[in-house]
Amino acid sequence: MELENTNNTCPKVAKCPIFQEGVLINKFTGDSYKKIYCTTLKHKECKRFLVSKIYNKPIPVQVLPNSFFSVDDIVKKLTDGYWDSKK
Ligand code: SF4
Repeated sequence: MELENTNNTCPKVAKCPIFQEGVLINKFTGDSYKKIYCTTLKHKECKRFLVSKIYNKPIPVQVLPNSFFSVDDIVKKLTDGYWDSKK
């Protein structure tokens, strides 16, 4: 996906697998996340972005921008290895 030249873009795009590789579901969904979150100010509401502020390790692709889990729940699940066991 072409990256728009805007200050609204998420600072995580260079390393985020959702932006760089798409997502598990399909290309259409991945492109939608990029348009809705990654290249707009809405990136500040992205659960991956919010979690990355307090969790200093790689975040599995299963954690999606609009996850229904709270940030605290996601951090707890990451710490507990919840997604590691789902591989
Ligand atoms: S998915 Fe979230 S953290 Fe990743 S680049 Fe997009 S807005 Fe940033």
